[in-house]
Amino acid sequence: MYFLRFEVSPSMLGKFRIVGDWVVGTKISKAEILDWLRQEDDRYLQDLWQKADAIRRENVGDAVHLRGLIEISNHCVRQCQYCGLRVDHRGLARYRMTEAEIMECVRQAVDYGYGTVVLQSGEDYGIRTEWMASVVRRIKAGTPLAVTLSLGERPDTDLIAWREAGADRYLLRFETSDLQLYEKIHPSLPGRCSDRIAILRRLAELGYEVGSGVMIGIPGQTYESLAHDIWLFEILYLDMIGVGPYIPHPRTPLGQAAIKLGAPQDKQVPNSELMTYKVVALARLACPGANIPSTTALATLNREEGRELGLVRGANVVMPNLTPLQYRLSYEIYPAKACIFETAADCDACIKRRIISLGRTVGSGRGDSPNRSRRIKRAERKLEDVVEDMPCLPCQPQL
Ligand code: SAM
Ligand code: SF4
Repeated sequence: MYFLRFEVSPSMLGKFRIVGDWVVGTKISKAEILDWLRQEDDRYLQDLWQKADAIRRENVGDAVHLRGLIEISNHCVRQCQYCGLRVDHRGLARYRMTEAEIMECVRQAVDYGYGTVVLQSGEDYGIRTEWMASVVRRIKAGTPLAVTLSLGERPDTDLIAWREAGADRYLLRFETSDLQLYEKIHPSLPGRCSDRIAILRRLAELGYEVGSGVMIGIPGQTYESLAHDIWLFEILYLDMIGVGPYIPHPRTPLGQAAIKLGAPQDKQVPNSELMTYKVVALARLACPGANIPSTTALATLNREEGRELGLVRGANVVMPNLTPLQYRLSYEIYPAKACIFETAADCDACIKRRIISLGRTVGSGRGDSPNRSRRIKRAERKLEDVVEDMPCLPCQPQL
């Protein structure tokens, strides 16, 4: 075992641990992350982009894995102050896809050569445990696809049932590690404490590949707390990291500025494109082996080249949208989302063309994370420190 040091700037030395051919852990401190987040000088930022791209290439290669996204329901019981699917957005036409509709999208994923389908929804208890398990079983029995679920904070019994049915991965962003801010923007359901970190630990125990991430530039998010988020990616040893800019939705309390959360101007993180690239790159430095998508939110901020810039600054995954067109507009997390009118065939062709134009290859197979087998022991050990750093929210008693 030995260490590499990259010349970045005097205060920004990253240490990378090498075992065999793999860079398996990054010792990037919170102070270093903070320096980068505040860095505005383009000359230094070029170093960050190059380091992130080199570490991406060394650890996960040039293949860009495609995950077919199916937004299976926009019903949600939650009141997230930032999201257009929140239960109080009464004007929104709600839908829940049938099993036949989902299987048609799955068939397209196979036809386009994707290795994974991602089934995402609001926290919708109309999605019954056994129904979801049977859909997962059907996909696993009939296709070679990996199945990723992103269905919110479902009870343990659901997570167990879906894992037993064959689900491979679960995505649940912790959104921000600032617990006071989190509580304000993501209120707990009555009688239930919203503890996404605990659910992420549980998902790892159950053998899922675990994905998480944050929104960038939520009002009230400081540079310090965003640095802590990125440091936490490394502690959790995530398999997948999804980060994207917060985009205000005018039909939400946060979008209407009905709740005031802004941090002092010099501390508030901007929800900008540049900040998003920095977080993608720093996520790659923190978790070299993780799968990191260049997200739709990034493509929404920069339609011409947002996805490409994400891919050359640390990302290695894209999630083409397979949701039937009649539902796309209703899955309106935030307005003016990119790729809302394109058919699945258009999305597929456009994304593959963009990947090839970068000199990268379209990934084949499932694109599993190399982190999973190493993560559990490591996370168990280091999470003890995090838990001390992050006191539990004052939970209401269980009903
Ligand atoms: N309901 C599940 C959950 O909350 O984990 C999955 C679906 S939810 C729509 C997926 C992600 O959308 C959230 O984790 C959040 O980060 C993101 N999101 C919601 N509202 C957003 C907004 N206004 N701007 C950017 N991202 C947003
Ligand atoms: Fe529901 Fe997820 Fe939106 Fe929150 S972020 S309102 S849980 S869909």
